[in-house]
Amino acid sequence: MERKIHILVIPYPLQGHINPMLQFSKRLASKGPRVTFIATSRISKSIQAHESTSINFETISDGSEEVQDLETSDEKLKRFKSKVSQNLPKLIERFNSSKYPPKFLVYDSVLPWALNVARQYGLDGAPFFTQSCVVNAIYYHAHQGTLQMPLEEGSSISLPSMPSLGINDMPTFLSDTGSYPDVLNLVVNQFSNLQEANWLLCNTFDKLEDEVINWMASQWPFKTIGPAIPSMYLDKRLKDDKEYGLNIFKPDMDICMKWLDTKEIGSVVYISFGSMATLGEEQMEEITWGLKNSNCYFLWVVRESEEKKLPNNFLLETAEKGLTVSWCPQLEVLAHKAIGCFMTHCGWNSTLEALSLGVPMIAMPQWSDQTTNAKNIMDVWKVGIRVKVDEKGIGTKEEIELCIREVIEGERGKEMKRNSMKWKELAKEAVDEDGSSDKNIEEFVTKLSHS
Ligand code: UDP
Repeated sequence: MERKIHILVIPYPLQGHINPMLQFSKRLASKGPRVTFIATSRISKSIQAHESTSINFETISDGSEEVQDLETSDEKLKRFKSKVSQNLPKLIERFNSSKYPPKFLVYDSVLPWALNVARQYGLDGAPFFTQSCVVNAIYYHAHQGTLQMPLEEGSSISLPSMPSLGINDMPTFLSDTGSYPDVLNLVVNQFSNLQEANWLLCNTFDKLEDEVINWMASQWPFKTIGPAIPSMYLDKRLKDDKEYGLNIFKPDMDICMKWLDTKEIGSVVYISFGSMATLGEEQMEEITWGLKNSNCYFLWVVRESEEKKLPNNFLLETAEKGLTVSWCPQLEVLAHKAIGCFMTHCGWNSTLEALSLGVPMIAMPQWSDQTTNAKNIMDVWKVGIRVKVDEKGIGTKEEIELCIREVIEGERGKEMKRNSMKWKELAKEAVDEDGSSDKNIEEFVTKLSHS
C-alpha cells in the first residue's frame, strides 16, 4: 500500500496566525496527505480537537511555560526561535522512526529559520503568509530596498501593481519605523532566505488582489490558497468544518447567538478589534458615545484586559441596546442575519471573514497591516468606510455615529452590501472545486506526492 505523505504545519502562536494555518491544514488533509499541526506550549491547552478531526495535533515546548517576567517582543521571538529549533528536530526524529516519516514543513513566514531546520532534517519547506498579498509585496520591496525609506510625510508611494498609497495606508511598522523595530525586522526578513523555496503559500485569493498577485508570482513561486475559513461558510465541501477549533480566549457562545436571535435583520453593529490591538481610554469613550448616539443595537467584543477602559456605568446604561462579551465565535456572529455591519480593526482574518460572509465594514485600523487593509476595504473592494481620525489619531463620537448611520441606513451602505455579496461569491468560488485556490492546493499536494 502506498504510504500517505506526511506534512507538518507550524504557526507562530497568535490567534491570527493559528486560524488560517489550521484551516489550510484541513484543506490539505481533505486532499489525502497526513497532516500534523504543531501547537507550541502557549496554545496547546486551547485545542478543542474533535474526535472526527482530519488532522493530528502535536505539542512541542516554546519555552513560554518557563517565562516569569514580562518579555519584550524581541525576547519573545528569540526564546521561541531557540526553543523551537531545539524541539522541532526531536519531533521530526520521533516521526522518522514511526510509520509516517514527514516529508514537508509548512511554516509561518515569520519564522524563516524553520526552513533551515526542515532542510537539515531532510524535509522540504514552504512559508505560509498570514497577511494579504499587497502587504507582503510591500515588505518585500522594503527588503529589496525598492521602497525608499524613511517614508516622507505627505508623499504618495508608488510600487509595482498596486494603487498609489498614502503614508497612512502603509503598514505602521514602516510608516512609524521607531514603533516596533523588532517586528519591522521580522516582517522584512520574511524574504531573507526564500531564494530556493519551491512554494510561497498565501492566505488570499486571485480575484481579490489579482494585479499584485500576478506581480508576486512573476518574482516567486507564489500561490494563493485562501480564504482559509471553515468550509461551512464557503464551499461546504469539508464535512463538519464549522469552526477553526483553537481559541486563545474562551468564547461566550450561546449568549451571543441567543441575543442576536432576538434582533431584526441587519440591525446590529458588531465591533471587535481582534486579539491584540489595545485602544486608549479616550478612543473607547468616543466609541461608547458614538454607539449610544447612533441608537443602534451593538455586540462589542471587549477583551478582559480592555474592560477597565470602558466608562463607568456604560454597561448598565446600554443594557437594552448592547451586549458586551470578552470573546465570541466571530464567524458565527458575522454569519448571523442580524448583523448589519462590522466595526473592525481590519486584521487580515477579520477582513477576509467579513468579505466571505458579505458583511460591510467600518474600518478602524490600529496598527500593523491593518491600515493597508483599510485602504483596500474602502477604495479597492468598496465594502466599507474608514473612520476619519483627528489630529490626535482619535475617531470622534460624531464621526463614529456618522459612519454607523451611513453603513446601516445610508445609500452608500446599500452599495457596500452589494459589493460585499459579490466578494462573498468570488471567495466561495476560489476554494470550491476547480477554483483558483483549490487548484493551487491540489497542485501542491500532487507535486509533493510525486517528488
Ligand atoms: N476572533 C474570534 N472572536 C472574537 C474576535 C476575533 O474568534 O471575539 C477571531 C477572528 O474570527 C479572526 C481572529 O480571531 O479569525 C483575529 O484575527 P485577525 O487577523 O482579524 O486579527 P488579530 O487578532 O491578528 O489582530
